[in-house]
Amino acid sequence: MKIICLSCGHKVELDDAYDDFEGLVKCVVCGTMLEIKTEEGKLKAIKVADPDPRGSQAQEN
Ligand SMILES: [Zn+2]
Repeated sequence: MKIICLSCGHKVELDDAYDDFEGLVKCVVCGTMLEIKTEEGKLKAIKVADPDPRGSQAQEN
């Protein structure tokens, strides 16, 4: 499956592990984090993830 980077238009190749996936994929060309959701090998949703995590809940570890 391929997705198109929303930022630079590069085709990002995803292997079968992403056929049912929800989460972040990084464009290798421009480094944009894309938030995708796939189902049965089809892209259901894609958007550019917030590049600056400020304001999100702090991660305690
Ligand atoms: Zn890109």
